[in-house]
Amino acid sequence: MENLWSDKEAEATIARFAKRDVSEDVALRVYTTRLLGGEPRLVLHGGGNTSVKTVMTDLVGDKVEVLCVKGSGWDMGNIEPAGLPAVKLAPLQKLTALRDLSDEEMVNVQRCNLMDSASPNPSVETLLHAFLPHKFIDHTHANAVLSLVDQTDAEKLCREVYGDRMALVPYIMPGFTLAKKALEVYRANPNVEGLILLRHGIFTFGDTARQAYDRMIEMVSLAEARLARAPAKTFPPIALPKTVAPLPQVAPILRGMIALPHGKHRRFVLNFRTSDAILNFVNGAELSRYSQQGTATPDHVIRTKAWPLIVPAPDAANLTAFTDGARQALKDYETAYKAYFHHHNHTLGPKKMLDPVPRVILVPGLGLFGVGKSASDASIAADLAETNVAVITDAERLGPFTAISEPEYFAFEHWSLEQAKLGQAKERPLARQVVVVTGGGSGIGAATARSFRSAGAEVAVLDMHAKLAQDLADEIGGIGLGCDVTQPEDVRRAFDKVCEAFGGVDIVVSNAGAAWQGVIGEVDDKLLRASFELNFWSHQSVAQNAVRIMRAQGTGGCLLFNCSKQAVNPGPNFGPYGLPKAATLFLMRQYAIDHGHEGIRCNAVNADRIRSGLLTEDMIAKRSKARGISEKDYMAGNLLGREVTAENVAEAFVALSLSKATTAAVVTVDGGNIAAAMR
Ligand code: ZN
Repeated sequence: MENLWSDKEAEATIARFAKRDVSEDVALRVYTTRLLGGEPRLVLHGGGNTSVKTVMTDLVGDKVEVLCVKGSGWDMGNIEPAGLPAVKLAPLQKLTALRDLSDEEMVNVQRCNLMDSASPNPSVETLLHAFLPHKFIDHTHANAVLSLVDQTDAEKLCREVYGDRMALVPYIMPGFTLAKKALEVYRANPNVEGLILLRHGIFTFGDTARQAYDRMIEMVSLAEARLARAPAKTFPPIALPKTVAPLPQVAPILRGMIALPHGKHRRFVLNFRTSDAILNFVNGAELSRYSQQGTATPDHVIRTKAWPLIVPAPDAANLTAFTDGARQALKDYETAYKAYFHHHNHTLGPKKMLDPVPRVILVPGLGLFGVGKSASDASIAADLAETNVAVITDAERLGPFTAISEPEYFAFEHWSLEQAKLGQAKERPLARQVVVVTGGGSGIGAATARSFRSAGAEVAVLDMHAKLAQDLADEIGGIGLGCDVTQPEDVRRAFDKVCEAFGGVDIVVSNAGAAWQGVIGEVDDKLLRASFELNFWSHQSVAQNAVRIMRAQGTGGCLLFNCSKQAVNPGPNFGPYGLPKAATLFLMRQYAIDHGHEGIRCNAVNADRIRSGLLTEDMIAKRSKARGISEKDYMAGNLLGREVTAENVAEAFVALSLSKATTAAVVTVDGGNIAAAMR
């Protein structure tokens, strides 16, 4: 593990923070915390924590000894001084006299002693930092150390690697009891440079930020060197099918399978990963042994559950067998999870049962999926799963990987502080739904993509201008894909990528279109056909791809089409535009008829007179002039007398996606135009 300390950087950090009245102690605490947090092999997603003991001045000018310790909700990689809340040290240290302290009492006493009442909750490992006497303390869940401590003979291995430089603390769940035990171990070994927490991680300490950091890097490097002395682990593989089914076929099957029947289906989002290391792991003949011991470090259990689901290798020649095998594996998983809950629930008093859905799925021949209520949760689960693959594979170089016991996992997973959070966050109406918007880079499409994202959906923006799609996706937090919807192969590729990013598709807004004009009696066939390619055929290929994925999921879906008032109220010279749009309106109804029994709803929006690529500023100027009215009057020339915006159209798409009993409907968004009203 490379030591990234730089005197120059450290001094620059001190100088930069001094301008904000941040002390040198806290500035250096921020500096090395970020060094540690920037390395995923040391710290991942809120794991790990650091502290410094320093002196602050209170309002009346008294000097107060405080512990600045990582606050919950902060990541070490981008921590700020505000992420290191200051807690008065003396009241925390007095707690060593107590025999017991519940987690709730611990959180309360920590909050009551904050210097700033607006601070986040100090870490659950705060007392461990407070009880030890050292000025700077660093804590990580370093991969290499975990590979050593997740062994049956971990103590022997650690003694061999660290001699008496590090003391060993047995596994205890974080909180007051662990803090007291760590203090006891330290007092018995006062010359150590840090503590190894068996089955959990590593603490190093020092008089300076640099000393604690140097020691962390050195101790992790020693663990890495010990692992490197054993040969790299290649798991003997199982025999795979001749052709493994590709990800875009497998993901929707798994995503549909884990959706919870909850009145409507409560879906999950998937995040796919694969690499040589992952394939070595998931293809192993002993996968069901080494993958089912537990997680590399206990706090992963909150994000990944203790055990991943293993499904059969998907045989491209027999997807039905794969589907059946995967369903059976899930059924067994859920039965075992419920049994685990009821078995241990007796020992800890009544707890709330979590959903029995796995958060990591291992697919031999293919890779792994993280599972979450959102794309970001799924991606965190996948990151942690990848770390588990690395730690377990390395641990197996030395001996069989072992983690904490089932009752210990139960206690961690049903921790009272975690249970208190259950049901608190209200989900937005379209959370867990994946939506694809074509022509999503600008105009109505962009407004629609934004509205769906605000309603909680995961959004894939497709546009023939890849950059427009990417820019919008970056802005709203989604994926952006270049896609020419008139090319069926391109459409298929884009939907495959959506499956890779999110696991499937629930809602499609087929929006891409363009207006062609011409007098119908003399128009060139080429022009009419070009308009049909974009304004009819592209809708068909988008809808076909969507239905293919929705069927594999088996959880219904929603197809939304952007038609036009031309489809029902043709205007002069607009035949080349209106004809394919009329066909698309019919297409929507045909999909509603043929796929309603599969729970797939189909609806359309008829919008008119929206400022966009179809109705340019030039056209508005020309048309209003021709009618002898102002541009404003032209745009608001409808029953409501108001200009209609792209956002109004977006609202209608979102509303239709939420209207559970509406299919084959056309909603007008035109401010009221009786000539274009549906009849
Ligand atoms: Zn920890």
